[in-house]
Amino acid sequence: MANVLVFSETNKGNVKPVTLEILGKLAGQNAEVAVVGDLGDDQVKVLAEYGASKVHKLKGDNLDKYSPEGYSNALHDFISKGSYDYVLAGATALGKDMLPRLATKFEAGLASDCTNFIFDGDQFNGTRPLFAGKCLAKVNLQGPKPHFVTVRPNALGMPETKTAGAGEASDATVTAGEIRATIKEIIASASEQVDLTEANIIVSGGRAMKNSDNFSILRDFAEVIGATVGASRAAVDSGYAAPDMQVGQTGKTVSPSLYIACGISGAIQHLAGMRTSKVIVAINTDPDAPIFTKADYGIVGDLFKIVPIMKEEFKKVLDQ
Ligand SMILES: Cc1cc2nc3c(=O)[nH]c(=O)nc-3n(C[C@H](O)[C@H](O)[C@H](O)COP(=O)(O)OP(=O)(O)OC[C@H]3O[C@@H](n4cnc5c(N)ncnc54)[C@H](O)[C@@H]3O)c2cc1C
Repeated sequence: MANVLVFSETNKGNVKPVTLEILGKLAGQNAEVAVVGDLGDDQVKVLAEYGASKVHKLKGDNLDKYSPEGYSNALHDFISKGSYDYVLAGATALGKDMLPRLATKFEAGLASDCTNFIFDGDQFNGTRPLFAGKCLAKVNLQGPKPHFVTVRPNALGMPETKTAGAGEASDATVTAGEIRATIKEIIASASEQVDLTEANIIVSGGRAMKNSDNFSILRDFAEVIGATVGASRAAVDSGYAAPDMQVGQTGKTVSPSLYIACGISGAIQHLAGMRTSKVIVAINTDPDAPIFTKADYGIVGDLFKIVPIMKEEFKKVLDQ
């Protein structure tokens, strides 16, 4: 059995869903969770339900806002006092920033952006996409412990069965040390949507949207089905969609349960960002569009006619 620490980010006081995905997959291992700052009893309970044996709330100066140096120093301080074999975190913007720093501090290995893993005894065996998702690499980690792993949000999915842990919560004082680069301000996106990298359903629009106003068709549909709206680079470069909506090689990598591509041709650079989606639906007027070779369901037709019909049909079903 491996001793595993899962670093959990919080959003408005709630642990991020990727933490629960990871915990679900760690059934059979000793899984503890670390958060920076406070965490409500309700969230500690959730972590326990998903298998956390302990929940450590890391507290100290200079930790009120995320800073790469402060958080990695604080985690380094905490982890050094324990005996963890592995430290796992979501491959979120923060996880991708912090875990390599931590791995470097421990001179340890890092398996980044894993889309799956299993433990064989206490040995981690992970899978991670390479070359923009064209192949899957099997990874395990050797050398000094702890080993570090980031896991792509939505890739594992929530566990079907849960194995509860004790969820023993405690405070731990940590030192963030000297912080040379501080974040002065974080400007939240105007959108209330779930971030693309964490969205369970995504509706994306491509160049075929023709202008930014037409994206309201996708936003209306997304509201009905609880989706987040994404875009291709062509749509972003044309000024139809904001840069933070871009999915693909130079945009965000997403792994939702359902990805609906509207008027997107399916260029390799777009597929690189969404090919691990569980179910892909494509709507395109061109029956030979490459996206159809990757889609589970394809609709050949005009998105401006099909999306409103889908919205109404989903509304009927979901309102029942
Ligand atoms: C280094 C590099 C990095 C890149 N990174 C990215 C990236 O991160 N993300 C990304 O998306 N792209 C990226 N690209 C660009 C990529 O190569 C494509 O140019 C881009 O994905 C095309 O976007 P699109 O599918 O919206 O547009 P198009 O390829 O022009 O496709 C539009 C599609 O809409 C269909 N269509 C037209 N009208 C309708 C209608 N009314 N209803 C339904 N369908 C319709 C057409 O048949 C067509 O298939 C990158 C390129 C390079 C070189």
